[in-house]
Amino acid sequence: MLRIYNTLTRRKEKFVPREGKKVGMYVCGPTVYDYPHIGHARTYVAFDIIVRYLRFKDYDVKYVVNITNVDDKIIKRANEAGEEPLKLADRFEKIFFEDMQALGIEKADAYPRVTEHIPEIVALVRKLIENGCAYEIEGDVYYSVEKVGKYGALSRQSLKEMMAGARIEVDERKRYPMDFALWKKAKPGEPSWQSPWGRGRPGWHIECSAMLMKHLGEQFDIHGGAVDLISPHHENEILQSEGATGKKPFVKYWLHTGFLKVEGEKMSKSLGNFITVRELLQKYDSNSFRFLVVSAHYRSPIDFSYGSLEKSKKSLERLLNTAEFVKTFKEGQSNLGNLLKKARKEFEAAMDDDFNTPQALAALFDFSKEVRKLKCGSREVVAQTSDFLKSALNIFGILVREKEIPGEAKRKLTEVAKKFGIRVEGEVIESIVKAREELRKKKDYKTSDEIRAELQKIGILLENEEEKTVWKIISL
Ligand code: AMP
Ligand code: ZN
Repeated sequence: MLRIYNTLTRRKEKFVPREGKKVGMYVCGPTVYDYPHIGHARTYVAFDIIVRYLRFKDYDVKYVVNITNVDDKIIKRANEAGEEPLKLADRFEKIFFEDMQALGIEKADAYPRVTEHIPEIVALVRKLIENGCAYEIEGDVYYSVEKVGKYGALSRQSLKEMMAGARIEVDERKRYPMDFALWKKAKPGEPSWQSPWGRGRPGWHIECSAMLMKHLGEQFDIHGGAVDLISPHHENEILQSEGATGKKPFVKYWLHTGFLKVEGEKMSKSLGNFITVRELLQKYDSNSFRFLVVSAHYRSPIDFSYGSLEKSKKSLERLLNTAEFVKTFKEGQSNLGNLLKKARKEFEAAMDDDFNTPQALAALFDFSKEVRKLKCGSREVVAQTSDFLKSALNIFGILVREKEIPGEAKRKLTEVAKKFGIRVEGEVIESIVKAREELRKKKDYKTSDEIRAELQKIGILLENEEEKTVWKIISL
């Protein structure tokens, strides 16, 4: 039984979607004015894994991520660059999609853009005015927070505490300092749309309420974002959505990812520790980064460093090698089947416990350690073991590519086999590895090292792991 920690109740709750196996899920998307950084990557990788696991558990998930393509930051950046704000947003939206794809993130079912939902946003603002939740002053519309009985339910703060923590837009005309903009009157040079209150553009919070209502309905199952969005953004979404429909709660489970810092510091351009997804992927592959992300629980902060990424890369290699190592097993009786059953159970139990990926990883490592003590198993269980490791890593979005040796390299390998008088049976690399093991048993380390050196020239590395030899493609 899957249990999920709900920020609203501060408890782990049984996961029971509103409608059978159907799950509506919304995650606040990026404001597209710059290159995505590794903090964004952490949050979207974490939610990607949550979606993958829900689908693995046979939930029918509709996953929606919005694109904020009109906003103060976009306009500011566009003015600095002398570019049209909507064009700049369009450019960075493409970059966002490219980077998410490079991280192995599966496409969401919908990516609604603010500029394509202006009629829905205007209709929602109108409804809030009619319901007495919002008021207009000279072309601006504000939400009236004092009217609501319960503001701060998600962050568990009083209105005063929220006021102390928030950056408040100073505007003498507001009825209460915490009232927030739903609609902003157009300023010269800014993108604007026609509305009952004159030309203007939406405030930030209202877009999510309007878009999620359109794509997921007035009430749905999971809403996510990183912790920084709890207050005021998600608090405001609650006011807007529930203020408009009167239906409570509009979200059943609120999920928030922990923040990613770089060597203990908040990432910022001024500190020079800002790492974009592109920079990261020039140095490491997405698998290593994803491994780092799953090594921490999604609610925990991550302290990023290249050192920890290097460690992630190595740990992942160990698991991948086990998936290959098991293929060298001889046909025979062993405890492998029982170990596999136990590992499957532990992996799923960990993931069922609020997507506890570090614990799920621990189950994989325990299993791997035990497997390495064995030498044989039935052909069926051996295949299942390799498949289990691959499919478990696949839930983490870690792609396990089959080790395929291209034809040209295979030809060179055959020459090496010939040179050392090795008889080839089945895969040439396996025959060489086996022959070399025989040589080592006979303590002929000289020839064994020569073979190793020859293979390295071709781009294949042999490593001795415990009693077995594993091979890796280093460059082909
Ligand atoms: P933004 O484009 O800044 O609005 O952020 C898009 C999403 O990424 C939001 O859910 C943010 O909360 C999240 N996010 C931004 N910075 C970080 C970070 N350093 N660590 C984790 N998530 C982040
Ligand atoms: Zn949002």
